[in-house]
Amino acid sequence: MTENTYDDQNIFARILRHELKADVIFENDHVLVFRDKFPQARVHLLAIPKGRYRSFDDFSAHAGQEEIVSFFQAIGDSARQAGLTCGGYRLVSNCGKNAGQEVPHFHMHILGGEALGPIISQLH
Ligand code: 5GP
Repeated sequence: MTENTYDDQNIFARILRHELKADVIFENDHVLVFRDKFPQARVHLLAIPKGRYRSFDDFSAHAGQEEIVSFFQAIGDSARQAGLTCGGYRLVSNCGKNAGQEVPHFHMHILGGEALGPIISQLH
């Protein structure tokens, strides 16, 4: 498999096919939002498009307008629903190997529920 091929066996593809369970907090035709299994903040959600996109780069280059709009609306709605707007929250998407992306299906981390500290903890 090349880096440009979508891996249908990745964990999030399996969650979308209901082969693996997830604690879903929002779903529509284009988007699924669920809790991260290994939370790195008091509230740690993951938003994923239902389409087969490997990364933000892939999504931003190839997704349709409806998918893109729906994705960002779902993030805002989920953050409000989770009560994150009052204290604030952080959106992070790791894209590719320099960012340490582990799951090759585009996802946005939604982190909050506490003060999160600096955006990058280790500098050269
Ligand atoms: P990445 O490092 O690719 O940006 O983030 C992948 C995220 O997926 C990590 O935060 C990790 O905790 C989360 N994760 C890995 N496996 C599972 C799983 O089986 N279920 C859920 N809900 N999250 C997972």
